[in-house]
Amino acid sequence: MARLKDAVCKLCRREKEKLFLKGLRCFTDKCGVTKKPYAPGQKAKMRLVESEYSTQLREKQKAKRYYGVLESQFLNYYKKAKRKQGITGEVLLQLLETRLDNVFYLMGFATSRAQSRQLICHGHIQVNGKKVDIPSYQVKEGQEILVAEKSKELPYIVEAKESAGSLSIPEWLEIDFKNLKGKVIRIPERADIKAPVNEQMIVELYSK
Ligand code: SF4
Repeated sequence: MARLKDAVCKLCRREKEKLFLKGLRCFTDKCGVTKKPYAPGQKAKMRLVESEYSTQLREKQKAKRYYGVLESQFLNYYKKAKRKQGITGEVLLQLLETRLDNVFYLMGFATSRAQSRQLICHGHIQVNGKKVDIPSYQVKEGQEILVAEKSKELPYIVEAKESAGSLSIPEWLEIDFKNLKGKVIRIPERADIKAPVNEQMIVELYSK
């Protein structure tokens, strides 16, 4: 399972943007970006002019951190996107957006992608009635994602269910909060994807 080893708030501060890596804390005044809206480290404060390469690199790092994937995984997603039909940058984001850990998080049953990954790895999630414990599993149109019967009373799940009413659910997903399940109505288009990323810059970086 991919793990972000750095202090997660520093990752957001480095990108000068909220990447929502810490669950409910991200929505409070304790958020690192709110408290210290500048990149960590003295040198970063002095880094005034950014080159084209460093801007592209930052976009890639931001996407990687937002979805919680490692460098090698991210490169594999890019290669896969390049082989597929369509605009490479958009296909790249679609592949990342339809990872099971991201979809389960967007459904509102976990407070962060990291928590979603943990629940999946521990066997609490099913796809079309069968256990799937691979966070990178690629969900497809029409598939149903649900919390396993034995896991419905887990504190994480109960907490998520209680706060679920306040969530804005993406249009490409259909959620049944009462029964802790959701369905992929369609594969998301670029306009559906809220990742704060300029995917074209990532494509330019890898094309060099
Ligand atoms: Fe990022 Fe959340 Fe930390 Fe804020 S609280 S800096 S959004 S991980």
